[in-house]
Amino acid sequence: MSAITKTLCPYCGVGCGLEAVDERSKEPEGFKVRGDRSHPSSQGMVCIKGASIAESIARDRLLYPQFRASLDDPFRRISWDEAFGLIVDKIQSTIATIGCDALCVYGSGQFQTEDYYVAQKLFKGCLGTNNFDANSRLCMSSAVSGYIKSFGSDGPPCCYDDLDLTDCAFIIGSNMAECHPILFNRLRKRHKKDANVKLIVVDPRCTQTAAVADLHLPILPGTDIHLLNGIAYLLWQWGKCDRAFIDRYTNGFAVFQSVIQDYPPEVVAKHCGITTEALEIAARYWANATNVLSLWSMGVNQSTQGTAKVESIVNLHLMTGQIGKPGAGPFSLTGQPNAMGGREAGGLAHLLPGYRSVLNPDHRAELEAFWQLPSGRISPHVGRVAGDIVRGLETGEVQLLWIAATNPAVSLPDLVRLKKALRRSPFTIYQDAYDPTETSAYAHLLLPATQWSEKTGIMTNSERRVTLCRSFQPPKGEAKHDWEIFAEVGRRLGFAAQFPFQNSSEVYAEFVQITRDRPCDHSGLSHELLDKEGPLQWPYPADREHHANVQESQRLYSDLQFHTPDRKARFGAYHGHGLAEPPDENYPYILTNGRLYGHWHTQTRTGRTDKICQMYPNPFLEIHPKDANKLGLQPEDFVLIKSVRGSAKLPILITEAIAPGVVFMPMHWGALWAEDAEINALTHSHADPDSKQPELKACAVSLEVIPKV
Ligand code: SF4
Repeated sequence: MSAITKTLCPYCGVGCGLEAVDERSKEPEGFKVRGDRSHPSSQGMVCIKGASIAESIARDRLLYPQFRASLDDPFRRISWDEAFGLIVDKIQSTIATIGCDALCVYGSGQFQTEDYYVAQKLFKGCLGTNNFDANSRLCMSSAVSGYIKSFGSDGPPCCYDDLDLTDCAFIIGSNMAECHPILFNRLRKRHKKDANVKLIVVDPRCTQTAAVADLHLPILPGTDIHLLNGIAYLLWQWGKCDRAFIDRYTNGFAVFQSVIQDYPPEVVAKHCGITTEALEIAARYWANATNVLSLWSMGVNQSTQGTAKVESIVNLHLMTGQIGKPGAGPFSLTGQPNAMGGREAGGLAHLLPGYRSVLNPDHRAELEAFWQLPSGRISPHVGRVAGDIVRGLETGEVQLLWIAATNPAVSLPDLVRLKKALRRSPFTIYQDAYDPTETSAYAHLLLPATQWSEKTGIMTNSERRVTLCRSFQPPKGEAKHDWEIFAEVGRRLGFAAQFPFQNSSEVYAEFVQITRDRPCDHSGLSHELLDKEGPLQWPYPADREHHANVQESQRLYSDLQFHTPDRKARFGAYHGHGLAEPPDENYPYILTNGRLYGHWHTQTRTGRTDKICQMYPNPFLEIHPKDANKLGLQPEDFVLIKSVRGSAKLPILITEAIAPGVVFMPMHWGALWAEDAEINALTHSHADPDSKQPELKACAVSLEVIPKV
């Protein structure tokens, strides 16, 4: 290990630069981490997760391959050679007997871009199945489909500098203060310094983000489109639209305009559970601002209308000309450290590398030629998304499931059903750095993967900034890099020519070639350049000089030329249809959920970090005092929460932060960390028709007091 290694925090999509400092004589793990002041995205700042990452490096590591024929058997240690032999046999026999559609992979935004790319080449290219989906399906797929519908391409148009330049931040469905804390600190600094900068927060909960806003709109869950159309209505009525911008750079405004006529303030306020005054203040802030920046994450995306919500946010920017300039634009915040890289590498069941689509024959042909595969090898059908994988396990259509770097036995919705489906899987491979996890309990074959400190590769953060993450420790035990495992399987299946890679730098060098002239152009980037220049944003074409790339890549659409055939952005026009599962007399409360500042997703790492576990020892259910009174609940009580699908038992936290009729629980606790506290035992799997992202954010529940014994 060199004295200081520059790398990236492996937790969230903010993508903070870290320095790993060699402290072999002082620290139990041999190093400590600190913020990297030279990283443009974070400028030396880190939150508790990044700062405490060293603690989780060595605990409960999966060190060597293990196999069992049945879930009721104990695992036995096997060699990598035996493990690869098993995988190749299973893949070949599955293809020979049923076909490649019976193979499924479920990956992760924790992958580096090289891991994603090699997996796409193997499954979508060599094996001809698009059944590669990732946990980004639960996180960002509505943002992807919303951007594509509005702009003709995925890709957040904004950058973090816009936080310093906006004079109205419109935060909807995002508790930035806890989930993207370093970005929120930056925005808050500007907000505190200048009284003219307005902060609007739309959230059913009074979160830490909402608590410091100029205006908090605690709308009822599922009413976002009403609110957004209501703001559009007022802007139109007040003559605050940019007509010249609309005419010159957009399509579809007339239809949108006819839809928003149904959203006058009285209707919207009543439907959303807010006052007309509050709605008008929000519209006034929009109207008066020079630069409006919208920021959103899972509260918008995790919905059966997630795509329509994203488009409805974009509509406001298009009607006011708030895009393509400093401090303005619709900015989705990614959840995972490389959810963005996954999109670039085609890591969802409808995508191909380089922002291509499996449905586009030209895109398929380009990749078949580049990968030296026969014409027609890539399937023209969208592969199985997360929900389809579960259905395929239930029907027996999925015969081999390969899960890597994610923990679906906590994070997917409708867990009772999912766990039953996982028990039916004839052959499940689980590839991860840690064991046990809730998902490793359902595996037949365990494959040890390297993690963060042991692998070198690329990650892209929410502002399209590409960072070279450098390893500074050797792999633990017999762990291999994810891309190495996929590449070796490819070679053993007879595709040696397609997988010649000796290291991740070679993988990335190949990947960047197929991004040439695509919206996410990485073609001028390489490990070597990123090592020399530090993190850089895409697009970074090979034929533009470095200085121009740095300048021009900061924001997309500065020239107001979009990726649609006529280069114009498109208005979407939608009515809000509410929740897929509204409350009723049997299940009268809406359950929503979210993250806590210290924990990360399913606690695979943070559950192994003492400092964080001490901060958040237990899960809880937030309930409004009125509802607590109605149910006769006292502060120390536990409740039984039930939905149609399952139940959980939690201590309550009585707080006015949550609206009456709505209850909140954190999303982090799986069966490994607490008994009967799984949020996803309660949630349903209804999904957005475009993005296929499930509506994890809301379901109907009942509450019962658990008598004290
Ligand atoms: Fe890591 Fe996100 Fe915290 Fe930054 S804000 S240190 S990327 S968890």
